[in-house]
Amino acid sequence: MTSLHSSSDAYIALIHTVYTEQLKVYPQPPQYTVLAALYLTTSDGTGPHKIISLGTGTKCLPECRLTLQGEALHDSHAEVLARRGAVRWFLEEILRERVQGSQWIETYSYDSKSYYRLKDGVHIEMYISTVPCGDASTRFLAAFQDPEMAALKDGPASASAIVAQPEGTILSTSRGRNNYHLFNVLRTKPGRADSPPTLSLSCSDKIASWAWLGILGALGARFFGPGGVYLRRIIIGEVHLATTNDIDLRDAIREDCVRALGGRLEGLLPNANFSTPGFTLHKPIIEFTSIPFVHSRLAIGMDERSVSSNDSLCWRADSFPPSPLPVLSTVNTKAGSGAGTVQVLINGYKRGASPKHRQRLNDDKFLPHLCKLSIFRLYARLCKEINGEVIPSTQSYYDVKTSAPSLPPSVSPANPITGRPRTPCPYHEAKICLKGPSGPFRAWWEPEQGHLRDQDQYDNLRGADRALWIREDIGRAKKQRRGQRWEGFNVDGELVRSPSY
Ligand SMILES: [Zn+2]
Repeated sequence: MTSLHSSSDAYIALIHTVYTEQLKVYPQPPQYTVLAALYLTTSDGTGPHKIISLGTGTKCLPECRLTLQGEALHDSHAEVLARRGAVRWFLEEILRERVQGSQWIETYSYDSKSYYRLKDGVHIEMYISTVPCGDASTRFLAAFQDPEMAALKDGPASASAIVAQPEGTILSTSRGRNNYHLFNVLRTKPGRADSPPTLSLSCSDKIASWAWLGILGALGARFFGPGGVYLRRIIIGEVHLATTNDIDLRDAIREDCVRALGGRLEGLLPNANFSTPGFTLHKPIIEFTSIPFVHSRLAIGMDERSVSSNDSLCWRADSFPPSPLPVLSTVNTKAGSGAGTVQVLINGYKRGASPKHRQRLNDDKFLPHLCKLSIFRLYARLCKEINGEVIPSTQSYYDVKTSAPSLPPSVSPANPITGRPRTPCPYHEAKICLKGPSGPFRAWWEPEQGHLRDQDQYDNLRGADRALWIREDIGRAKKQRRGQRWEGFNVDGELVRSPSY
């Protein structure tokens, strides 16, 4: 086994062992997939470590198949599933901690309130079996791109022809891999040119947003107080395969990953004074591993027969705490061991659940554990058990996400990016700093002014590409008019807001 970094390679080997020997849900060649996992480790890397979540997948739903009641996963890329699995693991770990303590998290008091945090010296890191889709993969993909496809996608014939967009053009967006020779572009998840457009941000864009918002999401952030939970390091596979006489691609790809997965936000977000204390940019350390992933596209072979698997695997460590709490089984904290909880998804739903069963939103048995509705219910359980707080059925997921105070009110009355008074939810304010009308990701999501487009890029589009962009425009405009159309359900899975307004 070759190794670029010995201590991290031990983690990767363990992740692969969980995947191949414990979970045993594989794509059938010539199908391939991507594997991602989050794990906890200690400062010096010599202490105990634990894999907390693992996901495989390369698919996401097109806009026309998005669900209104939170019952399906819209985005099933491995990185997104691993992150959502970690959110769920942290919420469940709070329940376990209350009964039997935790090796990894602890409570502490801030401003007379109680919060959770990682124990001193504990860090969370991520492994991805290949370079994440979107901005980070620009030159990596060019290294394996055949010239015919490059021409079709308006791309360069070689990796060295990749160009950075001029300073200040972080605003533009692009569908999938179109114009993929441009850096600093917010991208939708890739799809075939003839497929309906997706509204999911690329994994590069999502990972960059975690560098600012933390990985816990709005609901998880409520329990984990000031400081949040941020990825310390991301270890990426397959980069060593991108060798060419053209340029030293490993250095180029490292540059791409450092920029795309957090670096491009530097200087564009408020400084530490934004919240006291609170959200600050935590750029992850980027490292590579040469340990191969057995079901990657490059391992399966890049010929025309290879296709990405429709199945997605979601696994998280430990068992879901049953009710009542005291009958918990022993929590096994040894990395990679313990049964954990596994689900296989297809098209965002639990594999094997019939269309009829999928509509039974009150029966958790048929729901994906990582869908919005399931995580909302777990959050509601925590609110009740920790604070005695019941979430009324008049409140939608979106209402709760944007109003839940996760941190004490800041000393500053206005959001420094928008100049407007803040909502009670610092997480939501931090999100506005990123994606709101003046944020660096404003091209993606314009809740107030409609989205912006880089006019030059738009003018350069031709024929079908231009038609697709127009369709995407319409999709985004609809989303904007209807408010948070996909988050208008309550904890019972019923629509609180009409999807048609
Ligand atoms: Zn992706």
